[in-house]
Amino acid sequence: MAMVREVIDFVEELAPPDLAEDWDNPGIQVCPPGGLDRKAERVLVALDATHALERAGDADLVLTHHPLLFRPPRRIGGRWYRVLRAVLEADAVFYAAHTNLDRAEGGVADTLARRLNLRVEREACDGFGRLCEVPGSEEELLNALRNLSPLTTVYGDWEGVSRVLVVPGAAPDGLVMECLRCGVDAVIAGEIKYHTRAELLEEGIAVVELGHEYSELPGVQELARRVREEFRDLNVEVVPPPDITIIR
Ligand SMILES: [Zn+2]
Repeated sequence: MAMVREVIDFVEELAPPDLAEDWDNPGIQVCPPGGLDRKAERVLVALDATHALERAGDADLVLTHHPLLFRPPRRIGGRWYRVLRAVLEADAVFYAAHTNLDRAEGGVADTLARRLNLRVEREACDGFGRLCEVPGSEEELLNALRNLSPLTTVYGDWEGVSRVLVVPGAAPDGLVMECLRCGVDAVIAGEIKYHTRAELLEEGIAVVELGHEYSELPGVQELARRVREEFRDLNVEVVPPPDITIIR
């Protein structure tokens, strides 16, 4: 049976920490004394640590995409008090692979492109995006988008879309310039600010928003799949984000 440390070493092979942005805080977030040398039996994988808190007490390791300690609080009260109390009570190691997992080969951006059956040409947006060709029909891509997220929203002209930029999560700065450089017909993102979207539409570039969680979840599921494949006797479970209500 693997130690927690070995599982983390494997995750760092998949998502090398030096791929992370300077402002980011990936890696070990919380570690009980001796936590890394414990046997790993149960691993939870989640987009965000707060999604896994209810069940973290049974886990040895909680792997998340968003770092728990991103903007550390200056005072522990309210929500932070409840979160930290649950984290400490869980007595598990919390580990995050964030912008390093976004950029990594087979990481969040790559996996989203693959889940949409797109053909990845190359990296874009400083590694956070993937420039892709649409191998099938526009209709097939629309169906894939619809199947991936119930929040899928399409803006602009979708006719003849053949070159797209895929950027999971929040769209990065400089997105419009990058789209113009790459000559894409459409952008597929988790979320895009209103003015950026308006600029893209003015340039004749269609915009698809999937919702932040839905755009990153495939990458989280893929991380769980690879850990499961590597450590056969490990119980690896993906904790989904909280349910949302869609009003039609
Ligand atoms: Zn995110």
